[in-house]
Amino acid sequence: MSCDFLSLCNEGIKGLHPYQAGKPVDELERELGITDIVKLASNENPLPLPASVTAAVAQEMKDLARYPDSNGFYLKEALAAKLGVSSNQVTLGNGSNDVLELIARIFVSPQHEVVFSDHAFVVYPLVTQAIGATPVSVKAKNWGHDLDAMADAITDKTRLVFIANPNNPTGTFLSTAELEAFLEKVPSDVIVVLDEAYYEYVPKSERSPSIEWLSRYTNLVVSRTFSKAYGLAGLRVGYAVSHPQVADLMNRLRQPFNVNSISLKAAQAVLNDADFLAESVNTNKRGMQQITAYFESAGLDFIPSYGNFVTFDVGRCGGSGAEVYEKLLRLGVIVRPIGGYGLPNHLRVSIGTEAENQKFIQALGTLL
Ligand SMILES: *Cc1c(COP(=O)(O)O)cnc(C)c1O
Repeated sequence: MSCDFLSLCNEGIKGLHPYQAGKPVDELERELGITDIVKLASNENPLPLPASVTAAVAQEMKDLARYPDSNGFYLKEALAAKLGVSSNQVTLGNGSNDVLELIARIFVSPQHEVVFSDHAFVVYPLVTQAIGATPVSVKAKNWGHDLDAMADAITDKTRLVFIANPNNPTGTFLSTAELEAFLEKVPSDVIVVLDEAYYEYVPKSERSPSIEWLSRYTNLVVSRTFSKAYGLAGLRVGYAVSHPQVADLMNRLRQPFNVNSISLKAAQAVLNDADFLAESVNTNKRGMQQITAYFESAGLDFIPSYGNFVTFDVGRCGGSGAEVYEKLLRLGVIVRPIGGYGLPNHLRVSIGTEAENQKFIQALGTLL
């Protein structure tokens, strides 16, 4: 007889639920026997890989028998130069998800609290719970972070605060003044992770000088990713920029080869491909206009978004978010239900190519 493994596992792990990823296209194909499916569910970049990346990948294929550079030397150097920091402040991750988890595991123990906002990225509660620490989810304001309430939620037990800016899944955005006022209030022994996964989509004039803040707020950790505007979600590369001592701790805990050799080279190539990044951002801007113009004409409420996705109210679509999601699946369109983020009457749609957006608009139109 086997033993009850549930009774053996760490306390925090027991209550975890597996991460619900966006439904893959082939899975829906298998289930419904339909083709021509459009996936707008995971905030992926809809553009094909640029030639700069395919060339770098092809080149690296020759060396796959070797381990990757464990220190990611060249990618860290390139990032440090671009950001104006020292290389010893950069930590690479297998997606930024990896660095978010490293930070939590380094600083948070079961007796601690982790503060984040309602409707926040699901990875924050997930890592908190896995450690067995106490999640403190602060009520949202206008669908986004209520930074005053978050500052008030900090206690002697708080070790870590997560803020996503722009936020996923609501797309809300905090101004430089709001963030700065918050950072001023946070005690220096509470780590603040500013998750800027959608940074590149924010108009330059509105971006916060988050990297410059690192010298003033030594408890700040900024995370960014190659998964969104840089278009490399499948390769899993992200990074944190922090105080060198925090980076050193992350470097101790991370897996020795947490970023694979193809991903290192691809990220380096795309980092230098300014044209691709500009095209990603422009495609997103046009697509956002296309979809929100439709929402407005159809009388559908949506949350104005700074990301590459937009969350809308399904009230006029004849069902809950989960029901409308299912109906759209049958029409060959995969979006993201966000009941798990406390938004059961909304759906999140990622911005695709013009044709993909059109297919979504048409499908949604048949439900109204
Ligand atoms: C997509 C996303 C990430 C990035 O995930 P990766 O692991 O880098 O692919 C991080 N934070 C938020 C809020 C996101 O939406």
